[in-house]
Amino acid sequence: MESIIAILEKIKAPLLFSSRDSYMHLPMVKDLEATMRSFLKQLQSVSFRNATQNETYAAYKSIISGLEEAIDGYDELPPGDKKERIEKALRILNELKAFVERHSFGISSIQDEKKEQNLKNGEITLEKLSLPLRFVKGVGPKMASLLEKKGLKTVEDLLYFVPRRYEDRRTVKDIKSVSTGITETVIGHVVSALYRSYRNRRAYEVTIEDGSGQLTAKWFKGNLGYLRKIFRKGVRVIMTGEVSTYLFSKDMVHPDFEILDEAESVEDLINFKRIVPVYSETEGLHQKYIRRIMAHAVDNYSQYVLSPIPDEICEKRGLRDIRGAVRSIHFPATDERIEEYNEMRSDAHRRLIYDEFFFLQLAMALKRKTEILDEGIVFRTQGKSLHRFYGILPFTLTNAQKRVIAEIEDDMGRTSSMNRLLQGDVGCGKTVVSMAAMITACENGYQAAIMAPTEILAEQHYNRIEDWSRGLDLSAVLLTSGMKTTERKKIIEGIEKGNTHITCGTHALIQKDVTFRKLGLVVIDEQHRFGVVQRAQLRQKGVNPDVLVMTATPIPRTLAMTVYGDLDISVIDECPPGRKEIRTKVFFENERNRVYEIMRMELRKGNQIFVVYPLVEESENLDLKDATKMADYLRREIFPEHKVGLIHGRVKGKQKDETMAGFLKKDIDILVCTTVIEVGIDIPHASLIVIEHAERFGLSQLHQLRGRVGRSDIPSFCILMSHRRSSEDATKRLRVMEQTNDGFKIAEEDLAIRGPGEFMGTRQSGVPDFRIAHILRDADILFEARADAFSLAEHISGLENDKYALLKKILLHRWGGRFELAKTG
Ligand code: ADP
Ligand code: MG
Repeated sequence: MESIIAILEKIKAPLLFSSRDSYMHLPMVKDLEATMRSFLKQLQSVSFRNATQNETYAAYKSIISGLEEAIDGYDELPPGDKKERIEKALRILNELKAFVERHSFGISSIQDEKKEQNLKNGEITLEKLSLPLRFVKGVGPKMASLLEKKGLKTVEDLLYFVPRRYEDRRTVKDIKSVSTGITETVIGHVVSALYRSYRNRRAYEVTIEDGSGQLTAKWFKGNLGYLRKIFRKGVRVIMTGEVSTYLFSKDMVHPDFEILDEAESVEDLINFKRIVPVYSETEGLHQKYIRRIMAHAVDNYSQYVLSPIPDEICEKRGLRDIRGAVRSIHFPATDERIEEYNEMRSDAHRRLIYDEFFFLQLAMALKRKTEILDEGIVFRTQGKSLHRFYGILPFTLTNAQKRVIAEIEDDMGRTSSMNRLLQGDVGCGKTVVSMAAMITACENGYQAAIMAPTEILAEQHYNRIEDWSRGLDLSAVLLTSGMKTTERKKIIEGIEKGNTHITCGTHALIQKDVTFRKLGLVVIDEQHRFGVVQRAQLRQKGVNPDVLVMTATPIPRTLAMTVYGDLDISVIDECPPGRKEIRTKVFFENERNRVYEIMRMELRKGNQIFVVYPLVEESENLDLKDATKMADYLRREIFPEHKVGLIHGRVKGKQKDETMAGFLKKDIDILVCTTVIEVGIDIPHASLIVIEHAERFGLSQLHQLRGRVGRSDIPSFCILMSHRRSSEDATKRLRVMEQTNDGFKIAEEDLAIRGPGEFMGTRQSGVPDFRIAHILRDADILFEARADAFSLAEHISGLENDKYALLKKILLHRWGGRFELAKTG
């Protein structure tokens, strides 16, 4: 592969030389035909790796014979015909190059074949790619540490550090014909270089001349002493910059430039006369420097890049050769379409994006496969208790709930263990669904556990579950970290002895001293608040228990595929009947009195109100009114006739319970709180939620908070208090809230505005760091890669198969960390 491209370049050189400057050099090129023929012979000696590629080979041959025709009898032709033949040959060469890159997996020369064999054992290539950057030519320890700040530690990191955008510097213009206001590139000799003083500042000015006219480059800042040293009269220089006019002269202020060695061929430049990559910069790391080390890395290491995606897949998806893609992504050929590069839509981009998605999806597919192979518990489903449970519920299940329970029961009845994600908007009734699953587990003689992220939520689960359990002769307990030692001991004992059927709790559940007698089902509520590790830890408390994770933050499909790609997904897409839409409106600080009026109206109707704050206490540099102050203010100044309660992260145990119970019993009318109430809490008479500093919350979080009201058939409202000074993004978020109540739509918007990492919250929540791929922009590629990876996983038995040894090596290299983690889960 390498050498075909190399041969093509060699053939191209004399043709290009002949054509340059309107065929000025044509008469100087002698014996072109003979030279070309010898190259052609090399091209014809290319061999095929396997016989099934005959069609490709035939196509290749026919392109080569076209080339042969173009040069046949060339030396004897008159100049006019020669031009025509050269043009034709160049056209065919481009075609051939594209063809070779497209089919690189099918063609290689014998020589390449050997090299390829060496690379195939993977060791050398991983070693080369893992080389720390400080050992790369041109990168010293100082630069290495700057690069590391950008997350670039190894040669591989560098090669996958793709340009932010590309600049078109392909055409060098005559100075005479450059246009004002446009970025142009010119070449000329320095005719003068001097300091000039303007009214209040000094500039270093370099004037160049190219035979058609003169242009002046101006520097007002930077290392002027250095400029003075290098711009000596007569020096040849190339410059790119936006052209402006000053009085009668053409100017470029702070252009990019390079001194041209008189002998140096302009063709070798990496900063000019081509499509030039522009990287994201850091203090001390400049474009030209990054380009220089990148060019070095591409020249010397891109041949080690490996991506053993099977040929069939590459062919089916039209994926080009990975090494070519790495080269092009940094230094696109002059005839490439720059728009495609700038939109990250070039073949080179597509190849690398596909690659990233494919390996992650393959890791997930294989992880899922091993988990499925683990012997799980086979539960008997549709038992008597379940029907008794449906009987004691004061409502009938929605169709969505019924469907999802059936999906879960189906999983539970299988030999393989369940690994299912249940998604559903706030208030759609996930708790009932999880209870159904827990009942099935208990009926089979197993224990069940449900873990929630906050104490309040765990308590709420407990209260409901305990209530249901009593009617079903099951015993349920609550385990949180806020408990007294003696109480805790008693509860742990019950769990260990097996007297307890269902355990509700917080992180306290995964403490070391908690052991279950026979844990068969694990439910994790509000999964996005926990990490992969915690899910694994709870799972380990049993022997291959079934796992159901639930989330009320709907996760867009593309993100779910990358974060929870190893889980089956169920969706509750329907809310219990009778729920009214929550009307939402943004208010600004100067409208606060109107907000108090609205609050008063709701209170008069006998409804309750939440007032939510982002922080617990006033911090020194944020001018946030904190929850405590606000509670006092509302109590004393605004609503003296009403009861105001307060809950935040530091209000603990009994006091918090009392307040919560008071609010639930309607002893308290207004509950001022921080985001501890964010998830799950159910207060049927709350009809209004006022969210202070709404601009500081993410969309999904706002949606969660809003879900605290509208939990019955009372018309409900959400008021978002905002500052006029809020950022554009924040304002956009708040408008989205006004427009829709649909959790999935909100999630999509949130993801688009904040990006995957922020969307999921913490790092541990498991959004992989993609180098190039973007799950929204590249969703189509993600779907393809996922389908391909999952179907490939079907054919790989535990990755032991030799045919896939290299694939496995690369997979472990890329996602090894996670993959190991997966084994513990
Ligand atoms: P979430 O999905 O947000 O966890 P919950 O399970 O807390 O929702 O349920 C929200 C409220 O809706 C609870 O009060 C619950 O009893 C009630 N609920 C659940 N399912 C139904 C249904 N099918 N019909 C009516 N009310 C329901
Ligand atoms: Mg819930």
